[in-house]
Amino acid sequence: MRLIVIGGVAAGMSAASQARRADPNAEIIVLEKGGDVSYGACGLPYKLPPAARMEDLQVISAERFREERKIDVRLWHEVERIDRDAREVSGRSRDGAFALGYDKLIICTGARVWTPPITGLETLWWRGAYPLKTLEDGRLIKAALTANPPRHVVVIGAGYIGLEATENFAEMGAAVTVVEALPEILPWLPAAQRARLMDEAAAHGVEMLVGTRVESLARVGETIQVTTSQRLLEADLVLVATGVRPESGLAEAAGLRLGAAGAIALDASLRTSDPHILAAGDCADAIHAITGASVWVPLALRANRAGKLAGDNACGRDRRAPPVLGTAVFKFFGLEIARTGLSSDEAAAAGLDAAAVEIVAGTRAGYYPGGGKLSVWLLGERGTGRLLGCCMVGPEAAAHKIDTVAAALHAGLTAEQLHAMDLAYAPPFGPSWSPLLIAASQLSKALS
Ligand SMILES: Cc1cc2nc3c(=O)[nH]c(=O)nc-3n(C[C@H](O)[C@H](O)[C@H](O)COP(=O)(O)OP(=O)(O)OC[C@H]3O[C@@H](n4cnc5c(N)ncnc54)[C@H](O)[C@@H]3O)c2cc1C
Repeated sequence: MRLIVIGGVAAGMSAASQARRADPNAEIIVLEKGGDVSYGACGLPYKLPPAARMEDLQVISAERFREERKIDVRLWHEVERIDRDAREVSGRSRDGAFALGYDKLIICTGARVWTPPITGLETLWWRGAYPLKTLEDGRLIKAALTANPPRHVVVIGAGYIGLEATENFAEMGAAVTVVEALPEILPWLPAAQRARLMDEAAAHGVEMLVGTRVESLARVGETIQVTTSQRLLEADLVLVATGVRPESGLAEAAGLRLGAAGAIALDASLRTSDPHILAAGDCADAIHAITGASVWVPLALRANRAGKLAGDNACGRDRRAPPVLGTAVFKFFGLEIARTGLSSDEAAAAGLDAAAVEIVAGTRAGYYPGGGKLSVWLLGERGTGRLLGCCMVGPEAAAHKIDTVAAALHAGLTAEQLHAMDLAYAPPFGPSWSPLLIAASQLSKALS
């Protein structure tokens, strides 16, 4: 059996490794268009400061995959076409054109950077204006930062990657301006929690320009002039963090069915609309645990898990991909920001009759020093009392407490059942009535 995997990061190398475990005799070839495989993209913002090493993000090298797992990793091999009738992929490598037949194919092409329509951006890409998507992007930004430690950085886009990078630029001593085109940052966050992020930015000297569009970039001497809909900014370095889209063009051209956001549509066994082709990771869709709808959730655990399952299924097993909740967390200076399940807008779009409560409570017992305030926003369904979603922001506790809510959502619990849960307590970790239990109690009343 010859298995070909396209793409060699989280989903692709998980798929290839699991296929090797499932079938010691299979011929497994990974075709990766870049020069790196198996790296921790999530760590990129944290490796920007001079003291951190970008290369530490490399998990297992291509050589080790070849030697230890007998996986034929081919770098600099870009697949340009999938011929489903001939069961063949073809493309271009540094040695010229290639074509390879397959018995099973797993598409793990991930996501691609979305290039916003900004005049002058094309000429400044990787020469002053950078995306932060791949390990190579990280190396290029780091080289630029090392050559010219920036005094002023403009970050375009206030999503979690833009904000994580902002923190790291600021800690390098740069003055950072974040420019966000939407009227508010992170629209899925409730307004009061969003305000805490804005306050945190201000407390660390970061300027946030929301409802502001970057119109053009131009290099003038050593400086990049950033023309926005509000005013002119000057930067030594511009980070373009305006989001990603599923890299599903190959699949689309091959006539495979697409799902949410144009990601490759999969069945529960990660098969595409062609039974010989599976897909996993950011290029593909998933099923939402609450709505049952196709969703696009480009996150790492999901990519690794789907890759593993696809690797098994390509070798004849039939393992089902669990549904997703979009559980996510990130850090912004002294705050943890976490979410799971649906936002108000997503619940409304799914036709759910939802109500929310929001509470603020201490992250430690009142008499125990330190800590701060945790904001908990909890959403549930009127009538059934079922939990639908949660967002938390606080100086500590949010990152871990969100997992309790994710478990409750997976189990289909009601607000009342969450309130009845026997959760851990000790003064350094919260009041005996955890902020989560207080929110669940209030939500249960609001829903009845
Ligand atoms: C800066 C940053 C921070 C992040 N932080 C977090 C976090 O904190 N938590 C979290 O859950 N997620 C995070 N993520 C998201 C997470 O990294 C992704 O969900 C994960 O990397 C997806 O893995 P993937 O294998 O599906 O796709 P990708 O990582 O996009 O890899 C796809 C690979 O396919 C290759 N490829 C594409 N087309 C072809 C082709 N035609 N031929 C050959 N090869 C091809 C690409 O070169 C690429 O190497 C972060 C992402 C970034 C960029």
